[in-house]
Amino acid sequence: MRDYYEILGVGREATADELKSAYRRLARQHHPDANQGDPEAAERFKELSEAYSVLSDPQKRAHYDHYGNAGGNGAGGGADMGFNFEDIFDVFFGGPGGPGGQAGGDRRAVPGRGRDFQVDLEITLEEAFRGVEKEIPVNGLAVCVTCGGNGLQPGKKAATCRHCKGAGQIQVIQSTLFGRFVSLRPCDHCGGSGTLIEDPCPNCRGEGRKVQSRRVQVKIPPGASEGVRFRLSGEGEAGRRGGSPGDLYVRLREKRHQVFEREGDDLYSELAMPFTQAALGAEVEVDTIEGKTKLHIPPGTQNGAVFHLKGKGMPRFRAGGRGDQVLRATVRVPTELTPEEKALLHQLARLRGETVTEDKGFFQKVKDAFGV
Ligand SMILES: [Zn+2]
Ligand SMILES: [Zn+2]
Repeated sequence: MRDYYEILGVGREATADELKSAYRRLARQHHPDANQGDPEAAERFKELSEAYSVLSDPQKRAHYDHYGNAGGNGAGGGADMGFNFEDIFDVFFGGPGGPGGQAGGDRRAVPGRGRDFQVDLEITLEEAFRGVEKEIPVNGLAVCVTCGGNGLQPGKKAATCRHCKGAGQIQVIQSTLFGRFVSLRPCDHCGGSGTLIEDPCPNCRGEGRKVQSRRVQVKIPPGASEGVRFRLSGEGEAGRRGGSPGDLYVRLREKRHQVFEREGDDLYSELAMPFTQAALGAEVEVDTIEGKTKLHIPPGTQNGAVFHLKGKGMPRFRAGGRGDQVLRATVRVPTELTPEEKALLHQLARLRGETVTEDKGFFQKVKDAFGV
């Protein structure tokens, strides 16, 4: 689905007036009456109207800016986002009661499915390792507490549509070269439901849903990683007038870890060691995602050498087993040496026939160090 701002050709900071004039201009251009014979015009007009109906409502606009269209079910998701024909015809024809206003959208008792939402959830590597249960705040259209979603004032009933006498359909007679045909189509006045809301609920103004904050529990199994999406069926936006709710998609974001870098199911970490350990070998303790473990560093380990800890990586998501931990050796050279250390290194260099910078006070320091 295209971005609403893009459809209207305005920037994200556009003011209400800018939106309105962009919409008016484009609506005139794409109105189906002005584009007879172009089957796509109706589609473009609908898209335009939908974009405007959302962006012209500050509440819906804020919601859109925050959640977007929530990928997943493109067309179905966008088609019924509280799209109010009256608002649109109002702008286009300069007031209610103009041509086309007969849709009378607001009183139609027809339900509509709620949109899907997507929220991002940030978790730590440790949480991804063990799995975690989180509570996510969701701020969006939820079933109205006053009317329970039917959009009616408590105690009132939906009125029978006078136009179709409650049938939800009307007969259309078409004259063609081959004779007259009678066909049925959904009633425009009630949207095919056969009923109208004459006494709308005061809390939701007949929508059956209202913006509310709530919290949703989500369980993340071990091994989930950045970008994985979970679908929570029915936890999205409430449907219009008792329509089925949308779904909530939770997309994972993984926080950067201080020690480990994740690549698939493998964990990478640095293994810093002094050059003495690298040269002579050592038994050291290293960090794993679940605590310390012992590691043998063989003598003569070079900078950049790689050690594998089999099965010490992340659990495989929705599968058995675990990845590995990979440690890369970084051999550290001391930067500050005491006179004694310096003397020993000079001695080592001489033994190995390695040329080093001559230390002026060398002999003096050896004497100092060894007290000779
Ligand atoms: Zn209500
Ligand atoms: Zn009707």
